Amino acid sequence: MVCAEIAPWAKTGGLGDAVAGLSDALCAGGHDVRVLLPRYSHLAVPRGRPHTLEGLGGPFRLGEIEPEPIPPKPKRGKRAAPARQGAAQAPQRQPRPRIFLLELGELTADTVYTGDARDAGRFLHLSAAAVALSAADGWRPDVLHCHDWHTALVPVLQRLEPRSSIPSVLTLHNVGYQGVFADEILEEQGFATLEQVLPADARAGGGTNFLRAGLRAASRVTTVSPTYAEEITRPEFGMGLEDILSARGRDLLGILNGVDYGVWSPDRDPFLAQHYDAADLAPKRRIKEQLLRELQLGPELDAPLIGVVSRLVEQKGIDLLTLVLPALLSDTRATFAVLGNGDAPIAATLRAIADSYPRRVSFTEGYDEKLAHEIFAGSDLTVVPSRYEPCGLTQMYALRYGTIPVVRATGGLADTIQHFDAALGTGNGSVFRDADPQGVLWGVSTALAWYDDRATWSHLVGNAMAADFSWPKQVPQYEALYRSLL
Ligand code: ADP
Repeated sequence: MVCAEIAPWAKTGGLGDAVAGLSDALCAGGHDVRVLLPRYSHLAVPRGRPHTLEGLGGPFRLGEIEPEPIPPKPKRGKRAAPARQGAAQAPQRQPRPRIFLLELGELTADTVYTGDARDAGRFLHLSAAAVALSAADGWRPDVLHCHDWHTALVPVLQRLEPRSSIPSVLTLHNVGYQGVFADEILEEQGFATLEQVLPADARAGGGTNFLRAGLRAASRVTTVSPTYAEEITRPEFGMGLEDILSARGRDLLGILNGVDYGVWSPDRDPFLAQHYDAADLAPKRRIKEQLLRELQLGPELDAPLIGVVSRLVEQKGIDLLTLVLPALLSDTRATFAVLGNGDAPIAATLRAIADSYPRRVSFTEGYDEKLAHEIFAGSDLTVVPSRYEPCGLTQMYALRYGTIPVVRATGGLADTIQHFDAALGTGNGSVFRDADPQGVLWGVSTALAWYDDRATWSHLVGNAMAADFSWPKQVPQYEALYRSLL
């Protein structure tokens, strides 16, 4: 795995969770997985002697970090049901991927992304180091699995290193981020020779487009849900890459992301003070009570609490939610707990609404892993009004916590959430069609009407908590893909 993020060491969003979950699940299935990412300055220098590798753009210095063992499931509290069979066995130490950090010298930065040309240099070096690693004597991977634009140039760089002629998979976690840089960037970063093998259309539209280059060169391309795989072959979602994406035909595959229930499950969540499962939701209510207190929201415990955890960018449609918040606040009893960071205008709007309704709306600006877990556990509903969504993890997390997702029917949201049918008792959320304020308002109001009927709501919550999106369910699809390349 060659990537910019892996949770919990380096995570800004779903990419970090997805790489960690897939790598762990592959290891658990008996594969030898090694992960390469940059050593960001918040990550300690690994102990021991670094490995040194020669190659284009090198020499490269790699240190290895020791992954934390996966914690055993915590003991259940007094209220717990009798332990299930097998639970008394000693927890086994699960095999974990080996994680290597690449030293980047003066390009080292304390954030995962700098958002400027330094990113090009950092990820060019990372990609080149991966190629050098796969061409080195000793351990050789069967497949190089690259993620997003950051490492899309791996298969292009492989063309300059005959000893690295192994298959590559490029996974698209979001085609909205393509890594487009001034044409001089390759030369400036010491990679002028890459020009010889760069696909001509990587220069289309001015600038060098890392993702476009990789899309042509990778042996196979995957993305993180079946619906998104289809959507991105069309201009509406392809972000200018629809030509090459549709040209790759059957080489483009959509495999839904999984959830790491070792971290994202209310019966063992390491961030929660209390645990629960579908058999007893009383602790969920206490977590809600605590959350309302912590966020200084109103005392009405029975009013529906709507939690939102999101990057604040146009893609996520949080601006649409802000447009209908005043109506929802005046027409319903709903209370909102929002956690997010990103674009300043969206944050400013949220702050202004929270200031006007301090007992009904709380906005926490920033990135807070613990609060994210508490919001998923303590809320009754969550809203994901994305304009597009490659997979989306928060709706799947919410399901497990018995928190009902209200989502727009796009990408992975469409693949994971089915609109609840109160008469038939089927479905696990509220799904609306249009990315506009009316759509969001309809989706939320519909779910709030279900909330008001106790029997309906508890049936819906039961459906939500029964869903299983664990990684081991998805891994066979990756295995089949890897095998098809050998
Ligand atoms: P994306 O990768 O596009 O941001 P996903 O739904 O795939 O969207 O993944 C989002 C991940 O990032 C989830 O784990 C979510 O809990 C987390 N997250 C997003 N914003 C924050 C935040 N402000 N604080 C903590 N976690 C966040």
